[in-house]
Amino acid sequence: MGENSRRSERVDYTGGIGKYLERLFSITRSITGNGNRKTLKLLQEIIPLNIKEYPTGAKVYDWTIPEEWNIKDAWIKNSNGEKVVDFQKSNLHVVSYSTPIHEKLTLNEFKHRLHYIEELPDAIPYRTSYYKKNWGFCLSYNDYRKYFNENEEYEVFVDSEFKEGALTIGELLIEGASKKEFLISTYICHPSLANDNLSGVVLTAFLAKELLKKKHNISYRIIFVPETIGAITYCAHHEKIMKNIDSGFVITTVGGPGKLGYKQSFDENNSINRIIEEVLQENNIDFITYPFMAGSDERQYSSIAFRINVATICKDKYHEYDYYHTSHDNLDFVKPEYINDALNIYIQALEKIDKSVVYKNMFPHCEVMLSKHGLCPEISGDYIPNRGIIESDIMCRLLLCCDGEADLFEISQILEMPIDVIYRVANKLEEKGIIERLS
Ligand code: ZN
Repeated sequence: MGENSRRSERVDYTGGIGKYLERLFSITRSITGNGNRKTLKLLQEIIPLNIKEYPTGAKVYDWTIPEEWNIKDAWIKNSNGEKVVDFQKSNLHVVSYSTPIHEKLTLNEFKHRLHYIEELPDAIPYRTSYYKKNWGFCLSYNDYRKYFNENEEYEVFVDSEFKEGALTIGELLIEGASKKEFLISTYICHPSLANDNLSGVVLTAFLAKELLKKKHNISYRIIFVPETIGAITYCAHHEKIMKNIDSGFVITTVGGPGKLGYKQSFDENNSINRIIEEVLQENNIDFITYPFMAGSDERQYSSIAFRINVATICKDKYHEYDYYHTSHDNLDFVKPEYINDALNIYIQALEKIDKSVVYKNMFPHCEVMLSKHGLCPEISGDYIPNRGIIESDIMCRLLLCCDGEADLFEISQILEMPIDVIYRVANKLEEKGIIERLS
């Protein structure tokens, strides 16, 4: 065909990604609270994020927005008054949403509230108790064995607060030529954990920054929500909009040292999956394919009433790596370069998605006379073997497919040609009024 698919230059945000990983990592995030606000405010340095608050007690479908939780400090002191567990050293040490307590207890009285992983003896696990009032501590198995004795008395302190507050969400709508929207969602509720999901948060911010640089055919709805309750809240408050969205990304776990992969959307045959595969293949990446399964916020977006086909491109997907939900998922495990690699894959996929316009041929009764519209060489018949097809041939094939139903990506698959070529040719036909864009 004499023309390669044209991809834009690879972006390099490694420096910025590294800077924001460092600044955001140790903030105490949860499903509500000041840590989430602080995180979103820092992201406002990168993109003009709109911060929205949804009050405690509001019903969102079958759920209720919980009380806001904030924590100042927590520790356990042994009988010598030494801090053997200290929230100031790692916010993973406290079970998220722990109730306040200040008591002296023997180990037997609170042993069941200490969480550790015997198989990963130097890692602190990450645990939550959002919807059942509870308190607890997480620590390494090594520390548990070192500092805890059956008959010793410990002073236990959690300085946390529950209040009628709000759940905080970040939102950015990047409007394109068409009102058709594509959803990009990431979750902000994890404290000091790098791959799951600070990597996704930072990637999404830089992806949005990149999208803001160009004009687009479609619009992008980018949201930063606490997992599950945040996605549900957003759906409940934007029901009509969300019902009109066909596909999207949930961006999570994009910064590990493992292989790139992608998790398919609800309908395995949806174009979003083919687009991602095509991009990964174009980059010669040996990738892992994960079938759709419950998982992250796609559980909400793909639910019966919404059925948004959300896929995830990831690098060390959640549940798949040993350090998942432990203190080992840190900034030694995650590298800015890995996130930048995944970012480039997302950008390339979005370029194809943005070109997946639906056109209608305005001349459905036999083909148009291309020469009359100035779209054909004046002298025809110059067939040269192996030169491949010329532009007017592509036009004729494309016109056969522009039925007002198939989008350009689907047509590119039928014609076995890169979407970039199809898109460019379609633009020429559009300029002459031969085909018209449907929104
Ligand atoms: Zn998680």
